[in-house]
Amino acid sequence: MAEAVAPSWIPTELRAMFLMLTPNESCFQDVEDVRPYVQQATPVFVGLMLLELVVGVLKTGASVVTVSDGLTSISAGMISRLPHLLVRGCELTAYIYVWERYRLVELPWDSAWTWWFTLVGVDFCYYWVHRFAHEVAILWAAHQVHHSSEYYNLTTALRQSLTQQLSSWIFYLPMALAVPPSLFAVHIQLNLLYQFWIHTELIRDLGPLEWIFNTPKHHRVHHGRNLYCIDKNYGGILIVWDRLFGTFAPETDKVIYGLVFPINTFEILSVQLHYYLYLWERSTTYKTIWDKLSTFIKGPSWTPGKSRLGDHADIPKVTGQEVPHEPSWSLPLQVYVVLHFLLLLGTYHDLFENKMMLSQLTILGMISYILLTLTSLGFIIDQRPTAAVLEMLRCVVMVMVQRCGYVNPLTPSLAVPTEAFVSLSLLYWALQSFSWLLSTKKKSE
Ligand SMILES: [Zn+2]
Ligand SMILES: [Zn+2]
Repeated sequence: MAEAVAPSWIPTELRAMFLMLTPNESCFQDVEDVRPYVQQATPVFVGLMLLELVVGVLKTGASVVTVSDGLTSISAGMISRLPHLLVRGCELTAYIYVWERYRLVELPWDSAWTWWFTLVGVDFCYYWVHRFAHEVAILWAAHQVHHSSEYYNLTTALRQSLTQQLSSWIFYLPMALAVPPSLFAVHIQLNLLYQFWIHTELIRDLGPLEWIFNTPKHHRVHHGRNLYCIDKNYGGILIVWDRLFGTFAPETDKVIYGLVFPINTFEILSVQLHYYLYLWERSTTYKTIWDKLSTFIKGPSWTPGKSRLGDHADIPKVTGQEVPHEPSWSLPLQVYVVLHFLLLLGTYHDLFENKMMLSQLTILGMISYILLTLTSLGFIIDQRPTAAVLEMLRCVVMVMVQRCGYVNPLTPSLAVPTEAFVSLSLLYWALQSFSWLLSTKKKSE
């Protein structure tokens, strides 16, 4: 069926995002043949983000996205996909394992019925993945990444967790008793792609579609920290699960986005991992083993003596006047960070394109370089005192990576300017580090 003629002039990944793929063009016999829809959707992501930016400016007169928040969200998306350079995703690996050993029936892979059944089945499982991710603190430690932006735009959709895939696979396993892995591999991607475009404030209401589908309006509520938004609207594609299981809330008051206790940082490893440390530290303040354990397995708002999900009355009230955390940093520094981020995006893209030709050691080295770069740029955005030294060291590594041919200019004609830019960056941060070291030495004297 995969050979059937695909309709139309609209790119496949764009149609995939809006549930416009036909079963005919997206059924595959073998899991190896499944198209990497998410990976190939990068141009669509970029195109729609730019469109949102332009429409936002025309509509509101202001940018819907800031450099600091937008880059942090895109960085989280990049980091969340790094493990795929080395291993197949946990979800698919576990799924294939169960399918090969324990399947009860074998639904036909080339049937439209199986295709639609899988779409609904994956979405049903996703509802529970998502609900548990909000109601069990150790799972929330992973998922909070997605909620950590105080803005709501298409870049927020890319703010994904590195560690959530370590637990989410469990919830999809019942489907492996009947649904072929290739169809699961298609729908796990389509489910994720659908959830991209609903992260926008520019689409207000979609009429009757709001009854059945998860929409920007419903998902805004999910990202809110207003009391009426907490633990509501978990659906992926369909909102009917929330209506069925009592977790639906319509959008009423102005939604204030983000975590109930904002993290106020743009440093990417803190964004990804800070909550694990927080949970551990909190558990050490409790005396009994059960309370220590409950810190991890009950709701994030739970405290001893409270019900499983804690008391929502303890959550700070919003006034509607909250202003997102925004560092005060100069325009040249913003341009600097954006340029280095674009260079890294090129390296990141090349790495995924050429991964089959690179050794595991090279890939590990490049993953380390990507993490170092994103961390260092986060230090600069956060204006941390050690940012200059870290960025200087990163520039040294960058020069070496460039020499090995892994940092390429955006176009060949920019080769010389790119090389000069990297060298000047190193020089600038070396001087900044020197003056920082001098000032700290003076202070200590
Ligand atoms: Zn969520
Ligand atoms: Zn979301």
